[in-house]
Amino acid sequence: MTAAIHLSANLLTVIYLLSAVCFILALKALSSPRTARYGNLVGVAGMVVAVLVTFLVQAPGHDWLIGSAMGLGALVAVPAARRVPMTAMPQMVAIFNGVGGAAAAVISVAEYLHDLPLGVPATKGVPVVFALVVGCVSFAGSTLAFAKLQELMTGRPVMYPGQQVVNAIVGLSILALGILVVVTPHLLVITLLGVAALALGAGIVLPVGGADTPVLISLLNSFTGLAVAADGFVLDNVILVIAGTLVGASGALLTKMMSDAMGRSLPKILLGGFGTAPEGTAALTAGEERTVRSGDATDIATLLAYSRKVMIVPGYGLAVAQAQHVAVELARALEARGVEVAYAIHPVAGRMPGHMNVLLAEADAPYEELEEMEQANDEFPSTDVALVVGANDVVNPAARDDPGSPIYGMPILNVDSAANVVFLKRSMRPGFSGVDNALLYDSKTTLLFGDAKESLTKLLAAVKSS
Ligand code: NDP
Repeated sequence: MTAAIHLSANLLTVIYLLSAVCFILALKALSSPRTARYGNLVGVAGMVVAVLVTFLVQAPGHDWLIGSAMGLGALVAVPAARRVPMTAMPQMVAIFNGVGGAAAAVISVAEYLHDLPLGVPATKGVPVVFALVVGCVSFAGSTLAFAKLQELMTGRPVMYPGQQVVNAIVGLSILALGILVVVTPHLLVITLLGVAALALGAGIVLPVGGADTPVLISLLNSFTGLAVAADGFVLDNVILVIAGTLVGASGALLTKMMSDAMGRSLPKILLGGFGTAPEGTAALTAGEERTVRSGDATDIATLLAYSRKVMIVPGYGLAVAQAQHVAVELARALEARGVEVAYAIHPVAGRMPGHMNVLLAEADAPYEELEEMEQANDEFPSTDVALVVGANDVVNPAARDDPGSPIYGMPILNVDSAANVVFLKRSMRPGFSGVDNALLYDSKTTLLFGDAKESLTKLLAAVKSS
């Protein structure tokens, strides 16, 4: 068993403060692709110091048990994180976040049961209830979000009559049980509280539609942070309070920024039903007599090569095809011919926040050429060609123009204001939301069918030889 190392309370506070500074610096650095790797390392350093100091100072005992649990966790998490394709990152974030929520809930219950024989004071009971409820909501919600994204269940909103009433009843039961847990501590009551919180987590996530999933994951992330912060009060551990609050606050800010980016209020998202076409919508529109213009690589390369300004609009298909390197090569080849090239980045393009920034940074796209939505939208009217590489929902004009569309209200990249639009995709299938895109049938649009990487490779060869 590790012998506890004696550190004065002041020194311990200073070390925890250093860890907290590392976390804050990490968050700051993570906000730009240029400094993100450094931010990650600083965050890891802060966490290693916090864990080591806590372990050595508090010497909780059960060294082998704790070591084995940590080893087992690393054994599962490290290969999973290394192997996961970028396109499956949201699922991984969802499930890891859910496990974090479960851990926070389990720790609070363990502390509660530990104190139960002698009575649990309210000062401990309140944070226990908070950590248990929020942790269970996060666990159940994240597990369902994982199942939706992994297509283990339907990604469509699951709604039934009286759903909000049921959720409200579960919410009120949680309030009543939570008060009971604090006032008259009892194993049965805390068990019921956990079950009710799991039901609420599922109830919150079921009606949320496909296109709102990113916002939901960010919200659940914030919940896990808050549950961990509450555990900090339960365990009387300052660094847990700080780290949990930082995750909670940054998750809440990200949730707000993402819901703003999608033109949606959080209550509307949670009430559900948004962002997924009703069954059959795409099939109906696809069945209408509409023609599309399909081009060949040589013609499109000529159009690109003789343009003054080209905007590349990456989306989920670029990630699937791993086409970021060849996209950047094509941009360089065009720039070598005097064409002005920039990348238009939609905040929810792909399947995770910052997905396109990460891919393009990996391919060494110059940061100054990455334009955020507002900036890019100012540029499209003076753009000769918007080259849409595997994006669909984020350029669908229905979100802007059609109040009847399930994705109405989501801000989009206005690629339709460019003089010409070229789509690189494999088929006429819609994107994540399942909503058909009328721009594919527009007279200014040309489609180059095929895998994005192959199409870009053909375009690159044709541009180089033109
Ligand atoms: P979409 O899912 O709307 O469209 C992707 C397009 O890529 C499809 O039209 C598909 O067409 C095409 N595609 C797929 N594979 C390939 C390939 N190998 N080569 C070429 N094309 C391909 O993606 P967007 O990026 O436009 O929008 C993102 C959507 O995902 C939004 O609805 C967003 O809300 C949602 N979302 C975003 C998350 C985030 O955090 N960013 C998380 C979860 C969901 P085809 O099959 O014909 O090739």
